[in-house]
Amino acid sequence: MAQEQLYECAKILNLEDDVVEMLENPMQEVHVSVPVKMDDGTTKSFPGFRVLYNNALGPGKGGIRFHPEETVHTVKALAAWMTWKTALLDLPLGGGKGGIICNPKELSEGELERLSRSYIDRIWKFIGPDVDVPAPDVYTTPQIMAWMMDEYSKLCGKNQFGVLTGKPLNVGGSDGRGDATAMGGMYTIREAAKELGLDLAQAKIAIQGFGNAGSFAATLAERLFGATVVAVSDSKGGVYNPDGLNLQEVIKHKAETRSVVNAPNTETITNDQVLELDVDIIIAAALENAITKENAGNVKAKILAELANGPTTPEADEILYKNGIHVIPDFLCNAGGVTVSYFEMVQNMYMYYWTAEEVYERLDRKMTKAYHEVLYASKNHNVNMRMGAYAVAVTRVVDAMKLRGWV
Ligand code: NAD
Repeated sequence: MAQEQLYECAKILNLEDDVVEMLENPMQEVHVSVPVKMDDGTTKSFPGFRVLYNNALGPGKGGIRFHPEETVHTVKALAAWMTWKTALLDLPLGGGKGGIICNPKELSEGELERLSRSYIDRIWKFIGPDVDVPAPDVYTTPQIMAWMMDEYSKLCGKNQFGVLTGKPLNVGGSDGRGDATAMGGMYTIREAAKELGLDLAQAKIAIQGFGNAGSFAATLAERLFGATVVAVSDSKGGVYNPDGLNLQEVIKHKAETRSVVNAPNTETITNDQVLELDVDIIIAAALENAITKENAGNVKAKILAELANGPTTPEADEILYKNGIHVIPDFLCNAGGVTVSYFEMVQNMYMYYWTAEEVYERLDRKMTKAYHEVLYASKNHNVNMRMGAYAVAVTRVVDAMKLRGWV
């Protein structure tokens, strides 16, 4: 899928074959075997990877995933998307990704720490503050980042806070990182509403997925815009109140029962119904492939904001475009997280830390600029917003490769 999207963009930009050849595969793919002394005294080796997709614009950037079904192919695709995401936000960074095939739920805390440190022992020559900078991703946490940063610092013989981002606040983390993804998404929604002439204070919003990104998005939409969140859902189903949900009650209910379903003063609806409600904005904040050719035709909202990665299939994309629905594509809408990760790197280098307000103000500027560049490119090339985003990002990477004399 990552390669197909690149080929489609290459056609729009008339890219030369040798350029595409350089971009269709990662520059570097490191495979390691990560030994861990287990609590029972045996040693187990876990396969791990770190992929540096492209560093024409700067050091690699991208998370590390701990997952039993991880594959190097997924990691490579995700590293490609990181390359486009950092380029789109005009960050001086390239794209990378890493992973270990393991089930962190079956590991003790001690085993998890030894796994994290052992992975760094294996890959430390391939990462660094000006080489490739990992971050948390699926099943990796700020604590894991702290262990990894500590191990890398020991190997270098000095503190190297900037080797990873997403760290806890008192070991080089950045304020504002917790809700950065949702906050970044809000700035793009604000700009899209202006473009469409939509008054956000009167807008009704439905949110699919009420986890980290989705629950922050709900409270921010209410707090920043005075918008009304009428429906939210999780893997068990959705809840709806046409007059607006009491979000604090829904959050409390989810904390107590692990689901939003049956929260007080709500009607239960299905996950599909959430996407088909008569609302102004849908925020997709759950998983990939939520909007398909089966349900895309039923979307009534004016804006679809993709906080999740890959929520819309290519066939659904075409239907939404034909029906005039304004899609804020994933690698624009959810780029707030990586942007604040970049701010964390900058603060680590300066050894001077910003307030949350300073972080949000800088994030707003980055997201707003990127949104308008995507909008302009989509109109200019007469393509949907996703391809507009690709055009902006790929152009930046290709220009850098040409200036550096790579192609
Ligand atoms: P999360 O696990 O905290 O939340 C996911 C939510 O989706 C959960 O509430 C889950 O119950 C719900 N869900 C699962 N299947 C569903 C379904 N079929 N219908 C409705 N809801 C369903 O994860 P998250 O960190 O909030 O990430 C959500 C998405 O946002 C992912 O695609 C992720 O890649 C993307 N994203 C997150 C961040 C971030 O900083 N958290 C950054 C960039 C992208």
